[in-house]
Amino acid sequence: MNAPLPAHAVRTPAAHWIGGRFVSARGGATLPVVDPSDGAPFAAIGRGDADDVASAIAAARAAYDGAWGRTAPADKGRRLAALSRAIGERAEEFAWLEARDCGKPLKQARADVAACARYFEFYGGACDKLHGETIPYTPGYGVLAWREPHGVTGHIIPWNYPLQIFGRSVGGALAAGNACVVKPAEDACLSILRLAELASEVGFPAGTVNVVTGLGAEAGIALARGEIDHLSFTGSAATGTIVAQAAAVRHVPVTLELGGKGPQLVFDDADLDAALPAIVNAIVQNAGQTCSAGSRLLVQRSRYDETLERVGRAFAALRVGPAFADLDCGPLIRASQRDRVAGFLDEAVAAGYRVVARGTIAADAPAGGYYVVPTLVADVPADARIACDEVFGPVLAAMAFDDEADAVRLANATPYGLVAGVWTRDGARQFRMARAIRAGQVFVNNYGAGGGVELPFGGVGRSGHGREKGLEALLGFTQLKTVVFRHG
Ligand code: NAD
Repeated sequence: MNAPLPAHAVRTPAAHWIGGRFVSARGGATLPVVDPSDGAPFAAIGRGDADDVASAIAAARAAYDGAWGRTAPADKGRRLAALSRAIGERAEEFAWLEARDCGKPLKQARADVAACARYFEFYGGACDKLHGETIPYTPGYGVLAWREPHGVTGHIIPWNYPLQIFGRSVGGALAAGNACVVKPAEDACLSILRLAELASEVGFPAGTVNVVTGLGAEAGIALARGEIDHLSFTGSAATGTIVAQAAAVRHVPVTLELGGKGPQLVFDDADLDAALPAIVNAIVQNAGQTCSAGSRLLVQRSRYDETLERVGRAFAALRVGPAFADLDCGPLIRASQRDRVAGFLDEAVAAGYRVVARGTIAADAPAGGYYVVPTLVADVPADARIACDEVFGPVLAAMAFDDEADAVRLANATPYGLVAGVWTRDGARQFRMARAIRAGQVFVNNYGAGGGVELPFGGVGRSGHGREKGLEALLGFTQLKTVVFRHG
């Protein structure tokens, strides 16, 4: 399909956004930007190093100590709201850019733009409502607890939802009064560079939002080691360990939003008509490249065959193709990710697990694109790699359980604990499951992969720690200062 080339895919210079302008990488190096739908390069980004990161941190510090720090909370809120509106006005531009850069079907990219705008709307309204406390203490004393920004916050962002994760992480940090330095993933920078530029256009002081592009092992690690006051990392568990160790040298607090292996529990009394679309969407959305994907299907034995048959039928109807064809799934982000997912599937087939159904790749999908068909694999043992590790592709691993205790055992059988879904009409069982499942979010008779800006989000165990989204995130982007007055 001949798609209009989004203006900013071409216009965005291969440069960082620092101090309110585009600045080339000091070393002059660039990295190609590849379109996952056809594997062809179509733009370039700057390859940042520690010097570039230091200069972005200095720009953020100057904004924090200067114009942004002196901006009243209500005015900060107006800027966030203005950015939200500006994103909404350019929704199609952002959607096409994100679709091209990440290989997302347009409908997914449009949803991401709407979520990004919503984060700035939500956090814009929160800027002047972040109250401290008074604390009763000894007679003759008055105690205040002020919520203060950390100062300069670092944000390391993955490639799967650049717009959304920028919105939730940077939106929350700005609302709490911080100035930000963002390191997007090397595979998905374009929408974030444009967002930072747009923030300046709607009146954020120069240096409030800075973006340094480049590789994780160069620019990313430099940010984690840099003179920042807080680090919000979203990405894989392995990289989370590296950045948390790096930040610990300067005792910088870190929020880790890591991976997941979300279970969907279907009990014998479940409303399958309601559950089915949610089960399919939770793993097909963004071609399964979602931390909160529902990637494990646990079904009570009495309804196992029926459920697999119906989910299988839905999988067989799924179509994969280039982003602009707007089918059920786009390509994966890069060749290595496609090969990794294919490796999981080859291993499952070799082990003899049952492949119930596969989708199809559109006949006219470009040969160079990174396509993987959605695949439903059944009768998977709980300790199989495909049942325990994050595949990060459109692969659903199914297994049967006997009773509630068995369901909980299987649900909690991975080191992750991010999001879970429970499908049952029994109210008491809903409550018991929500209590027993180890996860940061549990959805009952619905599933929200990535949804709900109001809903605190984060993990336990290998899924990380700290919460983003909702008002709860603001606590993480602030620190409490206790001030004790003796008045006699
Ligand atoms: P990744 O860890 O490879 O990369 C994430 C970011 O870290 C990128 O910006 C990358 O450049 C940077 N990075 C890589 N190596 C680094 C290093 N040594 N030092 C500093 N920074 C480094 O993850 P990914 O492959 O981009 O993203 C997929 C992962 O992200 C999955 O595990 C997914 O579950 C997770 N994720 C989690 C959430 C959440 O909110 N919990 C949301 C989206 C994605």
